[in-house]
Amino acid sequence: MSRNYIYELSGLEDGKRVDIAGWVQDIRKLKNVAFLMVRDNTGIIQATLKLDNETTKHMINELTRESVIKLTGILNKHSPAKGGVEVQTIDLSLLNRSLTPLPLGIADPVEADFDTRFNNRFLDLRKPERLKIFHVESELLWGIRKFLNSEHFVEVHTPKIVAAATEGGADLFGVKYFEKNAYLNQSPQLYKEMLMSAGFDRVFEVGPAFRAEEHNTPRHLNEFTSIDIEMSFSDHNDAMSMLERSVKAGIESVALSNTFRDLDSTEIEVPEIPFPRISYQKCIDYLHKNGVEMEFGVDFSPEQLKIVGEQFKSFYFITEWPSQVRAFYTMPKENNNLVTNSFDLQYRDKEITSGAQRIHEVDMLEKRLKEKGLNPADFEFHLKAFRYGMPPHAGWGLGLERLTMILLDLQNIREVSLFPRDRTRIVP
Ligand code: ATP
Ligand code: MN
Repeated sequence: MSRNYIYELSGLEDGKRVDIAGWVQDIRKLKNVAFLMVRDNTGIIQATLKLDNETTKHMINELTRESVIKLTGILNKHSPAKGGVEVQTIDLSLLNRSLTPLPLGIADPVEADFDTRFNNRFLDLRKPERLKIFHVESELLWGIRKFLNSEHFVEVHTPKIVAAATEGGADLFGVKYFEKNAYLNQSPQLYKEMLMSAGFDRVFEVGPAFRAEEHNTPRHLNEFTSIDIEMSFSDHNDAMSMLERSVKAGIESVALSNTFRDLDSTEIEVPEIPFPRISYQKCIDYLHKNGVEMEFGVDFSPEQLKIVGEQFKSFYFITEWPSQVRAFYTMPKENNNLVTNSFDLQYRDKEITSGAQRIHEVDMLEKRLKEKGLNPADFEFHLKAFRYGMPPHAGWGLGLERLTMILLDLQNIREVSLFPRDRTRIVP
């Protein structure tokens, strides 16, 4: 079906014949004429229709909001309608009639409550401002993918059904795997590390990560999209540099995107790199200076991160985390075993990424497993890859929804997930 997208119309000549297709957002009937507001994924436009015969009159009487139509008409660029452009309909056909009443209004000025919106997400997503979120997310990911590809990373796909927990944690979903018990993977960590032993040099993966987060928070999903990289013959500083350049490339891609005109209403600011770095210890010092208690060896609370984040305009790294709060595979800092060669990328009070140089030496890795209360035997498939020539390596995992959320200044991560999975929501 050849057709014009609505955003194109204002750029076409007055009097041109056009074909559009979309949803009827609103219908206004006068005696001899009807006004339809027709919406597609690129915009909305008024179509006028002369009610000069019985077939048309009948059709308009039957037409409901959110029905799918296509129409052919003449472009009028001197319309009194908003935007000054309308289509004078010559031929209208109904492709699919919507039931009425709608469980959720598309153009209602008052926002429906969260459950109504997400129980009818297909309708909620028809709102242009929702679609915009996913355009931004898509551009962001394209930008990051293109950048990593230009840096010779190979995109890989590792298993999501696994036998061992990546970090042994409690936040695992179990699945029945025939006669065995298995889990949904929390992170591709172990697999991307094995690929360093396999000699892939640089890998990245974009895929789902599953976490049985016990509590509903505005920044946690139980299934999210993780962008992961791992790079050989590299340390945490190399990984941080790759991260800030990836984030910048992604945001640049959004800022330059001209897929749909209404996107440029978003003021996207491309951040300057390098991002500032502050050590975990310096964050504690800052908190103390501000009269906030915090002891070495624990993670920051959201309230503490708010205070730490006040010092920075946007992105910053927190480096050198204590080994207590980092996973077993994190490389301790040379000459100071209390801290590690690790980092988090933060945007104000929100964590966007965790990364580190990894331990590549198998004895140290086994020792760290035991110290974390994990059984090395459960990780034998992984440890084996370290016994036959594992290069030094580093990497990170970035939450795509978190990055999209901060970019658009949204307060709830569910807004950037098409069909969010949280503590209570599994349908639709
Ligand atoms: P947090 O402390 O915010 O719970 P985390 O430290 O447990 O996160 P990591 O294991 O470091 O998470 O995962 C890497 C990245 O994946 C995080 O920095 C974040 O961007 C994203 N992420 C982690 N858990 C979730 C989740 N439940 N929902 C959405 N994104 C997540
Ligand atoms: Mn983390």
